[in-house]
Amino acid sequence: MASLLTAACQSPGAGRKLEQFETSSAQACYDRTTQPYTFVVDAHVHFRPFGGEAVPYTELVGYFQSAGVLFVNAFGIGQMFSAQSGCQRFSSCPTGEIKPTIRNDVINASNALLHPTTETHLTLSMSFPDLSKPRHIVQQMALLDEEFGPAFGWMGEVNLVKQALFDHSHQATPVERIKDWAPFMARLRAPDQGRPPMPLSIHADIGSDTEPTKYLHLMESVLAQYPDNPIVWVHMGLSREQTRMDPQQHIEILSRLLDAYPNLMLDISWRVLYEAYFRHAAIRAQYVAFFNRYATRILPGSDFVAAKGYKYRDYVREVEINSRINQYLSDKAFRHIALGQNYFNLMGLSYQAPEICQ
Ligand SMILES: [Zn+2]
Repeated sequence: MASLLTAACQSPGAGRKLEQFETSSAQACYDRTTQPYTFVVDAHVHFRPFGGEAVPYTELVGYFQSAGVLFVNAFGIGQMFSAQSGCQRFSSCPTGEIKPTIRNDVINASNALLHPTTETHLTLSMSFPDLSKPRHIVQQMALLDEEFGPAFGWMGEVNLVKQALFDHSHQATPVERIKDWAPFMARLRAPDQGRPPMPLSIHADIGSDTEPTKYLHLMESVLAQYPDNPIVWVHMGLSREQTRMDPQQHIEILSRLLDAYPNLMLDISWRVLYEAYFRHAAIRAQYVAFFNRYATRILPGSDFVAAKGYKYRDYVREVEINSRINQYLSDKAFRHIALGQNYFNLMGLSYQAPEICQ
C-alpha cells in the first residue's frame, strides 16, 4: 500500500484526458492493472469554504487536471458563517451562526464565466437553498439563470439535517416543510431552455451512534413526496456522528430505498466513510458486495473543501483515500462508478466510460 500510495499522491490519474471518454468505436479499453483506480468523476467538491478565502479558482481547476479528475461538480457550500457573525473559521467560532447563502453560487458562476476550461468538464451547482425556508428558492434559481445564462446543472449540497452544524444554529428541517418544496422540485425536474433534469444532492444524516435511525424519516419523506426527482444522498447518510452503524442494517435501509425509488443515487464521498467503515476488511467486503449489486446507483467524490491554504497534495490525498474502495469493485461497478458511466447517464452527457480490458 505504501508504494502505491506514494505513487498515487504524486499524480494518481496523470495522463487521463477527456478525449478518452468520447464515444467512438476506437475508444481504448481501460486496463485496471496498469491504470489508476482513482475516480475520473468528482461529484462532490466544495469550491468555497465555510468562511474566509478559497483556493484561487484557476489553481483549483489545475488540481483536477493534474489528478486526472475530468468531470467535476462545482458546489459552493450549503452554508457559511453569516455576514453578521463576523466569523471565518470554526476554530475561532465554535458556535458562530452558519446559514445558507447565495454568495458562493454567484462567485463560482462568475469564475466559471471568466475562466472557461476545456480540459475539465465542470458542472455548476446551486448550493444556496435553505430547505427549511423554501418559499423563495424558485425566484433565486431564476435570478441565477438570468444572470449567468442557464449555467447551472445541479443543486446541492443542501442540508436536510446535518448534526455537525447543530452548534452553529442549524436545525433539522421540519418534516412539515418538505411539502413546500414542490415548486422548486418541479423546476429541478424540468428546467427551461431544454436542459435535462437537475439532480439534487442532499446531506441527510440517518442518525447517530446513540440513535441510529433518528432522522431517517426525513429522507424517507422527501423520497416519498418527490419520487420523480433525481436525488443524490450524500455520504450514504453517514457522518462523524455515526461511525459505528451496523453495516448490515445500513445496507438494508439503503437497498430498500434504492429498490423503491429508481431516481435515488448514493454519493460515497468523504473520508469518514473510509476511516470508519471501508478501512476494515470485513466491513469493506459488505459494502463492496452492495456496490457491485447496485453498480448503477453510486457516484464517487472527494468532499474536498477548497479553503485557502490547501494545496494540490491535499486534494490528491482526498481523491486517493476516497478511491481506495474502487480497487475492490467488480469491472462493471468500477466502470459505472469510478470511470463515470453513472454520472454520464444521470447528466445525459454524450461521454462514455471505456470498457474494462479483459
Ligand atoms: Zn460536502
